[in-house]
Amino acid sequence: MDEEGANTESADVPEEGDWHLFASASYGSAEAEPTEVLENQETPEEEWFDGDDYYHTGGSIDWDAPPCPAPLGIAHVIKIGACDNCLHRIGGRRVDSTGAEGGAILRAEAHSRDSELAKVEVPDLCPLCENLFEDVTNIVDRIVESTSDYQYSTMQFGIHLPKDMIQSEDSIRTKHGAQGSKPLKSSFVNSIQDEISSRIQGISFVKDSPDIMITIDALTLRVDVDVRPIFIYGRYRKLERGIPQTRWPCRACRGRGEDCDSCEGTGLQYNESVQDLIGEPVRESMEANDTSFHGMGREDIDVRCLGSGRPFVLEIKGPRVRETDLEKLTDDINSKSSGKVEVNSLRWSQKREVSRVKETRSEKSYTIRFRVEEEPLADEVVEAINSLSGVVLEQETPKRVSHRRAAKTRKRKVTSISDVIVEGSEIQFSLRCEAGTYVKELVHSDEGRTVPSVQEVIGMECEVLWLDVEDIHSD
Ligand SMILES: [Zn+2]
Ligand SMILES: [Zn+2]
Repeated sequence: MDEEGANTESADVPEEGDWHLFASASYGSAEAEPTEVLENQETPEEEWFDGDDYYHTGGSIDWDAPPCPAPLGIAHVIKIGACDNCLHRIGGRRVDSTGAEGGAILRAEAHSRDSELAKVEVPDLCPLCENLFEDVTNIVDRIVESTSDYQYSTMQFGIHLPKDMIQSEDSIRTKHGAQGSKPLKSSFVNSIQDEISSRIQGISFVKDSPDIMITIDALTLRVDVDVRPIFIYGRYRKLERGIPQTRWPCRACRGRGEDCDSCEGTGLQYNESVQDLIGEPVRESMEANDTSFHGMGREDIDVRCLGSGRPFVLEIKGPRVRETDLEKLTDDINSKSSGKVEVNSLRWSQKREVSRVKETRSEKSYTIRFRVEEEPLADEVVEAINSLSGVVLEQETPKRVSHRRAAKTRKRKVTSISDVIVEGSEIQFSLRCEAGTYVKELVHSDEGRTVPSVQEVIGMECEVLWLDVEDIHSD
């Protein structure tokens, strides 16, 4: 976070003396504006003047005045009604103060050079900003108020200015402002940031991955505050069967909950899920609104997940607390889930890891146990099952998932088979196979939709008893 803070230093007003140097450098690249709100800063048209834009009554305006910081240029900008903020912003002269105070100093200086200037009647509305800077305090009040419950250290701004306002401001500034004057949008953002900094300690303004995103519509003065989610990466082991990976809405009430007898108002088909066993302690600890769970693949409700566990990313939405001790959190999750789920390797993560975790296709190791109708000849069964090591399966979309997956035939390799055990009429073995292999179907053949299968090679009907994920070979 410190690094991000340092980045924005470059966007600050240049030191005295660097003013013109800075002005001639490519100004745009040094701006602190969030990329998503950068509008097409169109090349200003040379023909900028449209007399109707100004409610000017006097006859002393010199339209051919040189640009600021020439005294005549400053006088001109005053005559067309620039506010103190804009006067300072495009005046191109260094004074002891910034913002409106700096503009007031420039104005006083100009008045002392030309006493007639004080008598010129100027319009109420600044033609550059339409008095936008008057709203800064009001906007900052709202930002401070709506973020007061939240812990944060970085903030990003998105400002929307009406396009015609940007264009007319740009024309005036380009013609009459000092070279390299700050455009309205970034000056406005700077004013807001300065006021925030003076009221809240330790905030860095960033261009990417903020804790809090503020969007402001300058036309309606609508201010939106978005507390960005936090992401935690980890691996989980599911040590008990009967727990779904994510929340399942109640079938009877479709998750609504209220007055539902079937789920007793919880809205859930199953009271527990891996998502909530992990997510709830985190949500409580970070005082968040909710969580989303992103696993590296899924396992069925009746399948355990052992070994080093399945990678996941937990998304924590609307957290009021952004810092917590992950070791303590690990202990908390593990003790609250009383042996049903265990997490390890927790670390802070980012949104982009969600897609990485979801898209990673890694080999997995399983152990599966099934029953046959009669006690088989152990040696024959062991040999037959071992013969499947290294084969490429053809698997049609299983019946049990066909309502949510498109029907197609996949080829999946069984990398290896080991530890085949025959105990009476129950048989168990371990295997490692490609991501996306339907392992139960490999055993019972899904009515011939998986070829070859254990059922086929041993010539007996197989009924799967249980399945464990032994390891996910990733990361
Ligand atoms: Zn202004
Ligand atoms: Zn229900």
